[in-house]
Amino acid sequence: MQARSADWYQGLVHNPIGGRLTRTLGLPAPALLRRYRVGQPLLEGPALVGSAPGGRMQDVVVRIVNQGAGEVVTEPSESDRSRWAAVVFDATGIGEVGSLVQLPQFVGPAFRRLGRSGRLLVLGTPPESLDDPEAAAAQRALDGFVRSAAKEARGGATANLLYVAQGAEAGAESTLRFLLSARSAYVSGQPIRLKAGDPTPAPTPNWEEPLAERVAVVTGAARGIGAAIAEVLARDGAHVVCVDVPAAGAGLAEVANRLGGTAFQLDITAPDAPARLLDHLRQRHGGAHVVVHNAGITRDKTLANMTPDLWSSLMAVNLEAQLRINRALLEDDALHDAARVICVSSTSGIAGNRGQTNYAASKAGIIGMVEALAPSFALRGATINAVAPGFIETEMTAAMPFAVREMGRRVNSMGQGGLPVDVAETVAWLAQPGTAGVTGQTLRVCGQSLVGA
Ligand code: NAD
Repeated sequence: MQARSADWYQGLVHNPIGGRLTRTLGLPAPALLRRYRVGQPLLEGPALVGSAPGGRMQDVVVRIVNQGAGEVVTEPSESDRSRWAAVVFDATGIGEVGSLVQLPQFVGPAFRRLGRSGRLLVLGTPPESLDDPEAAAAQRALDGFVRSAAKEARGGATANLLYVAQGAEAGAESTLRFLLSARSAYVSGQPIRLKAGDPTPAPTPNWEEPLAERVAVVTGAARGIGAAIAEVLARDGAHVVCVDVPAAGAGLAEVANRLGGTAFQLDITAPDAPARLLDHLRQRHGGAHVVVHNAGITRDKTLANMTPDLWSSLMAVNLEAQLRINRALLEDDALHDAARVICVSSTSGIAGNRGQTNYAASKAGIIGMVEALAPSFALRGATINAVAPGFIETEMTAAMPFAVREMGRRVNSMGQGGLPVDVAETVAWLAQPGTAGVTGQTLRVCGQSLVGA
């Protein structure tokens, strides 16, 4: 897995001479992000946890932090100078605009003392679930508050918002753990919605291996983001079926062997690809619990030079193959209970990108597909979501012209590109059986990129 960034400027800032030089010139210093390592505690320091009156989540958060061997402080003393590993504010009970002032009162002073790669997490009630217009407005206000706080965060800290529906409290653990831990290193400024699951997901017996005894399929697994996804899913306990085109067979075999997984050569655009994939899953593994649609290509040209061929060949891989496989999954019995389907979109699909009308259209199409299919998957007790990576350090982005690459890397709140592992950790959280309440959503993994924000 790519553990180090190819970012030359970050390397410069974090060596003694380069660091002195960039400080003297007053240049920004992108932080070294804390990333997850097996055995790492949930938080490496105390968590400050507060609540507005009527909050539903404080007890849940305190229990999870305590289970993760973390210290919880609910009433900080004036003399206490500790750095917070996390600041959590339960705003689920706020129903009036006037009560929002509790945010600067509680979070403001604490924010100054948020440690390196610290976490600000605000919990709310979904505005669309509230009849009272003032309550809905107050809850929606949390979105603007968190997005702005994320832009002020320093030292690799993140700020995110989790809207927890009434009745979804008991199913929040996997999502709270993801957002508090180092697994969400490059996810910031994002609102996530948690629905009440039916039934509430069973407790996860082992948080070191939340995917134990689950079979996961990853397309485009021979390299890049797909290989990182396969590696993280295997680390979390899954048996991974790695899929890629025959031409990538050598890389595919290397990844699958390293992880103790299975290599399956398949061009996902072939007419019989859904049937072959499902037959393989049924016969060799008894079915699948997790399907990750990661394979994707670019065929960049400005609109004036975009040929129907470039358009159609890209759509076939990026969108049509996913649609056909998803349809087959719904019609077939190859998916086990509590199945999770995760699609890889892109911030280009949200914001658009010059020279990428075909790519951006396909990636926006993925968002539409996920929203439209969520009710059908829900009938089978399954979820479907997308992740939208921003600038990620891969072979694809390494091949960009220098100026375009530097621009892509820096225009986000963290001043750096993400790593394939950041996308993989987000996919792995969505793949957990406990993440039952998140569906039909697209989560950006982009360090709060300004693109399309
Ligand atoms: P990559 O080109 O390194 O890897 C893509 C893999 O998909 C390759 O191994 C390729 O052989 C495989 N593939 C292509 N066509 C296939 C087909 N017909 N059948 C089976 N496998 C096929 O790309 P990457 O940078 O790792 O990107 C992975 C995904 O993430 C893509 O969907 C991409 O659009 C998306 N993404 C990447 C970035 C980034 O910054 N790199 C940003 C946003 C989204």
